[in-house]
Amino acid sequence: MKYDIIVIGSGPGGYIAAIRASQLGKKVAIIEKYSTLGGTCTNVGCIPSKALLDSSHHFYDASKHFDDHGIVISPPKINFKKMIDRKAGIVETTTGGIKYLMDKNNVDVFEGLGSFVDATHVKIAKNDGSSATIEGTNIIIATGSKPTTLPFITLDKERIITSTEALKLNEIPEHLVVIGGGVIGLELGSVYKRLGAEVTVVEYADKITPTMDADVSKELQKVLKKQGIKFAVSHGVTSVERNGNEVLVKATDKKDREIEFKGDYCLVAVGRKPYTEGLGLENAGVQLNKRNQVEVNDHLQTNISNIYAIGDVVQGAMLAHKAEEEGVVVAEYLAGQKPHIDYNLIPGVVYTWPEVAAVGKTEDELKTAGVDYKVGKFSMRALGRSRASGDLDGFVKILADKTTDEILGVHIVGARAADLIMEAAVAMEFRASAEDLARICHGHPTYSEAIKEAAKTAWDGKPLNA
Ligand code: FAD
Ligand code: NAD
Repeated sequence: MKYDIIVIGSGPGGYIAAIRASQLGKKVAIIEKYSTLGGTCTNVGCIPSKALLDSSHHFYDASKHFDDHGIVISPPKINFKKMIDRKAGIVETTTGGIKYLMDKNNVDVFEGLGSFVDATHVKIAKNDGSSATIEGTNIIIATGSKPTTLPFITLDKERIITSTEALKLNEIPEHLVVIGGGVIGLELGSVYKRLGAEVTVVEYADKITPTMDADVSKELQKVLKKQGIKFAVSHGVTSVERNGNEVLVKATDKKDREIEFKGDYCLVAVGRKPYTEGLGLENAGVQLNKRNQVEVNDHLQTNISNIYAIGDVVQGAMLAHKAEEEGVVVAEYLAGQKPHIDYNLIPGVVYTWPEVAAVGKTEDELKTAGVDYKVGKFSMRALGRSRASGDLDGFVKILADKTTDEILGVHIVGARAADLIMEAAVAMEFRASAEDLARICHGHPTYSEAIKEAAKTAWDGKPLNA
């Protein structure tokens, strides 16, 4: 069987590349080693984690906030099995939807482990022991990533777990010790805190979400602390041991003292690594870089000219929407078009509550680059919309060029920040100034008014409602 394009891996990078290539007239095959399509994002990532975040948010609201609104209920209870089953149902519907899209777009789906025979042939090793080989003029590697761990940790996947297991526990932990105050640690830590667990986050850096704007990290830590999550920042974990149902995490603090954290579960959330195991890259001569990512040029082309790579397996943010954009770009490039991605404008979101979202540069990045900038910050608390809902925490912070007023970065902590950030991304795509945003009429009362006010503050230093 001969195809114009073979895609290996059906995550958001791979399946979107397959759809776009097919739309542009290519004959496409996609290979996925698991029985369901959708990759990490749909099966054990974005979708199931957001399902549990939403369920736990409802429970938390019912327990803590309904009373403020004059709604009196007997204390709500959790049917954890039902919550987990609901999540599984959402994953099933979504993976089924991707299969439907493959059929609709005439993409041939092969189940099995794909490995290079040479630069144009891929072997598919099926679960029943049989195999087939298909040929492709071009091949797109979209094999994604897997959780990484620390060298001294043995993941038993029962009590010392990764995000994959944390999404399908049989019980709510009594004390979940989370190693890593990054996105996964804070999102899944939030889920179990809201459901009643004690949660301690042990973070090596001196702040949580260390790559985000420092003000954002500070505000988020303050708010999550208020919700009851405990933090031990500047703590390097040195060992994790399990004794029966107990897990003991040892760490060293800034003063070199050994600190112990005892829990019944330990979530290891210290990042993810590119996944190329069993792919037979050596048979095609495809090179990796020093970080074990598939090395690609600006067109996402590997050192072998007909082989491309996208998503978590290459450099850059490990985000579903980044993988999707790269899938579209490679498909269009192979169809003779001249697509482009602005990597500076890929938004990042943390689905805690309040949510966190950012696009563009942080203050530290601007300082390092020697850019002269100004700051406009507006507190969510000052909005009528926030008072109406009771979501008072957070702010919008806009960084703009001191001379030209061009918006360089937008950082939001607040209710619905995940959706709000897109106004900033659109403005920045069109290279708007802070004044441009400040002069756009925003609906009232909305959370988006904080963006208008922060923009006005950055532009002329005179917010209207503060
Ligand atoms: P993947 O989604 O990892 O897909 C790769 C696929 O390739 C897998 O299905 C794998 O089985 C298959 N494969 C690998 N090797 C082979 C082979 N040799 N043959 C055949 N198939 C193979 N990102 C966001 O943007 N927003 C979020 O809210 C978000 N939440 C997340 C929550 C969690 C808990 C986790 C773990 C991740 C989350 N992410 C989120 C990150 C997101 O899931 C990834 O960035 C995204 O899935 C990467 O897409 P991809 O297509 O590159 O790879
Ligand atoms: P991460 O890189 O976001 O965070 C890992 C954290 O672990 C960092 O803060 C790091 O300083 C800390 N750490 C590293 N070594 C440590 C040690 N020895 N002791 C204590 N802390 C240590 O990684 P993650 O949270 O595992 O997430 C993996 C990827 O998945 C991320 O790249 C993220 O983009 C993606 N993801 C995205 C979303 C989203 O978009 N909402 C959600 C979940 C995951």
